[in-house]
Amino acid sequence: MSYGTRKPHFVLVPLFAQGHMIPMIDLARLLALRGMVVSVVTTPRNTARFKAMIDRANAAGLLIRFAELRFPCAEVGLSEGCENVDLLPSEELARNFFAGLNMLREPLLVYLRQQCSKPSCIISDACCPWTSEVARELRVPRLVFHGPSCFFLLCTHNVSKHKSGGHLADAFEPFLVPGFPHKLEVVRAQSLKFFDYPGWEKLRDEAAEAEASADGLVINSFRELEAAYIDSYQKALEKKVWAIGPVCLSNNETGDEVARGNNTNVDENQIRNWLDAKETGSVIYVSFGSIASHSSSHLIEIGLGLEASKRPFIWVIKEKEMSPEVASWLSEGFEERTSWRGLILKGWAPQMLILSHPSVGGFMTHCGWNSTLEAVSVGVPMITWPHFADQFLNEKLVVEVLRIGVALKINMSIPRITGDSEGLITREEVEKAVSELLDGGAEGEERRKRAKELGEKAKKAMEGGQSCEDLTLMIRHALELAEEGRLPVHRSSS
Ligand code: UDP
Repeated sequence: MSYGTRKPHFVLVPLFAQGHMIPMIDLARLLALRGMVVSVVTTPRNTARFKAMIDRANAAGLLIRFAELRFPCAEVGLSEGCENVDLLPSEELARNFFAGLNMLREPLLVYLRQQCSKPSCIISDACCPWTSEVARELRVPRLVFHGPSCFFLLCTHNVSKHKSGGHLADAFEPFLVPGFPHKLEVVRAQSLKFFDYPGWEKLRDEAAEAEASADGLVINSFRELEAAYIDSYQKALEKKVWAIGPVCLSNNETGDEVARGNNTNVDENQIRNWLDAKETGSVIYVSFGSIASHSSSHLIEIGLGLEASKRPFIWVIKEKEMSPEVASWLSEGFEERTSWRGLILKGWAPQMLILSHPSVGGFMTHCGWNSTLEAVSVGVPMITWPHFADQFLNEKLVVEVLRIGVALKINMSIPRITGDSEGLITREEVEKAVSELLDGGAEGEERRKRAKELGEKAKKAMEGGQSCEDLTLMIRHALELAEEGRLPVHRSSS
């Protein structure tokens, strides 16, 4: 596809992980809707997942294209095709994956130099600090896109500044987050910045440096949800923060809510018909994002808890979780016993389609920020079960601050839940949480009301409200920097 050279050209560099790519593609649409030309950096495997979405956007006249680079799998010891975090066969290979990402610096530079339309601005994921050199070489402004909530960013920023305090030595000893807009008790093991783990110090420091030297920060959130944290983070970093979300609401074209982020093998009509036949607000949707996986025993406890709750449910089980034990447990009774009110989706689910259906009354989630924000956007309250990274703090935001969620288990003292974890939840806890969320008496009613109100605010923010205004300001800022050819002091001094 060829574009005129006069339109501003934004280059988006996502981290190749579903929770980071999906909002970046949404951001591409938002920019293209404002008349920008957008290039999204991908690799062949990642292109294939988003091609249908981009084709639809192109058909609607939006100027979005892929800047496809080869992912150096062989060079970093990964088998061919391991181009996304969810395609890694084991967590141990994450380091190889990030080494591969880092190697994209030179090919991206070469690619961008060959284009007739010089980038006006690079927006890169906070986990891709290697893009700062690309922007510096090309002398273009660079904004950092943060995937997680601002609540998480501010909390971990403040905790990291104070973490050497003696009483914090115990990773699970509760303490108050210093300098936070309100009282918030956390434990250190669940309040760490991305990459703040032994062995990842280099990437952690590079990411911090790339954030500090960026020309501004873009977050997938909205002011009505996170104003206090946005203001404090802006102040702490002395950097402009634009909240331009929830970007999932940019996605209302037929088709996008179905194949959002991956090719799904489920029949959307079957799901729609199934949901249409259920009462408003009666269904619990259970899904734990793109990465978290469960041991067979945890899956069986979830299933038995759902069965005992006697509520209709849609339950997503990933292909990698489908062990022979789970497959035979499902087929030897469970599926039959629950067939009249349970729908099990194996693989990738059309999450936005499901969540936005009026029959869905609750979402059991791992609290990935996209899933959380998607539920907020459509006014659905949550059962929270965080597994790693920012998810623990997102749970606090949902349950303690916004009060639109019920924790599956309060104060779980674990830094990470993996596919090997056992014995952390019981069917009784699942059953109790589902009843509390979907019913829960007056408290449940209030929770649902708060969730609905937030959903309305989210829509307003994206339909001409503050998030639209922030997007305007962000674009203006980037284009002013680009047009003036003005580069901040830290760039020109290097
Ligand atoms: N998602 C989906 N279908 C699935 C699993 C996930 O559409 O079966 C989407 C979900 O809607 C969200 C993203 O994948 O947009 C997951 O991001 P999140 O931040 O919630 O969690 P992560 O996968 O990063 O842990």
